[in-house]
Amino acid sequence: MNDQTAQPTSREERLAGLPLREDLRGQHPYGAPQLDVPIMLNVNENTYGVPQDVQEAITRSVREAVSSLNRYPDREFTELREALAEYLGHGLTPEQLWAANGSNEVLQQLLQAFGGPGRSALGFPPTYSMYPLLAAGTGTAYLKGVRDADYELTADSAARQVRELAPNVVFLCSPNNPTGTALGLDVVEAVYEASEASQAIVIVDEAYAEFAQLGTQSALTLLPGRPRLVVSRTMSKAFALAGARLGYLAAAPEVTDALRLVRLPYHLSAITQATALAALRHRASLMSEVEAIKHQRDRIVKELERLGLRPASSDSNFVFFTGLADPQRIWRGLLEAGVLVRDVGIPGSLRVTAGTESETSAFLSRLEELLEEEQA
Ligand SMILES: *Cc1c(COP(=O)(O)O)cnc(C)c1O
Repeated sequence: MNDQTAQPTSREERLAGLPLREDLRGQHPYGAPQLDVPIMLNVNENTYGVPQDVQEAITRSVREAVSSLNRYPDREFTELREALAEYLGHGLTPEQLWAANGSNEVLQQLLQAFGGPGRSALGFPPTYSMYPLLAAGTGTAYLKGVRDADYELTADSAARQVRELAPNVVFLCSPNNPTGTALGLDVVEAVYEASEASQAIVIVDEAYAEFAQLGTQSALTLLPGRPRLVVSRTMSKAFALAGARLGYLAAAPEVTDALRLVRLPYHLSAITQATALAALRHRASLMSEVEAIKHQRDRIVKELERLGLRPASSDSNFVFFTGLADPQRIWRGLLEAGVLVRDVGIPGSLRVTAGTESETSAFLSRLEELLEEEQA
């Protein structure tokens, strides 16, 4: 039984032995650590949880949906699209709305329809880590644009890169994850114009739009007359429904027609639709949580400045900060105190989600201790 020794031993080797697509070989899956710690401030969830009245409304709505689970759900999720259009405003009609299981699936469907083999998608790193993974999964080439100093992206620079690279899809993340800052609408306008030649679909990922600072404008205002512009949103952050998986977009009606060609039939379960509808109808208490989160976010920015660090201006529910001599040591020190934050792999930096008041206090006081140790 000598050839036993030639048998692959590790899972990695066994995976390599499978007839996997060449372009997926050596790729790594999305892998933000899911550790069981008391204070989880690493994936920008809504830390305040689902308010009691919303929980009860969802429970009632789901209970009703359960009675007809023997039937396929409304394939067109008509009621949900109406509710989403009403929520977004800006004169949007239900036929301009589309939803899927998280905005990740919305983005994947966009790439299935407008990307794919022989086509390319442009992103501007550091940005949302899922863009290259979704591109890989759909066989779309991922092009990496460059940012200016302090991770800013100006209209001129973005437009020039779009003209040079002529992508089929452009990802603009606003506010950008991991840096937290919103893009000016001038950038979106310039990119859209520059993409005329390559007829690119321009996606503005506004996952954190509800946390924007006063005066920040949504790209929704730019939709009229721009049939290649798409604005994606999610209920995972402001609506505290990361576990429910509901993302959506607003665009020209013909964009949603394109997505019907690639979506799986009945992709939005009756339970998901019932959950999202109940949350949208009872959003008042959710929106007051958003205000509380913004308050904690602003508090983090102020405190980090006091500690001599450099937080980026944040339009989101998280803060990206630089100025750390040894971010890994700080990350570990925080974890030892039960506080999980995100090391996004950018030198001297970490990212933290705004927690509840007590979670934020725990983060700030532990961080201060760790920085003092450094000085001692
Ligand atoms: C969290 C996040 C999303 C949301 O993903 P879902 O699939 O809706 O949970 C989308 N885009 C960005 C930039 C994010 O940070």
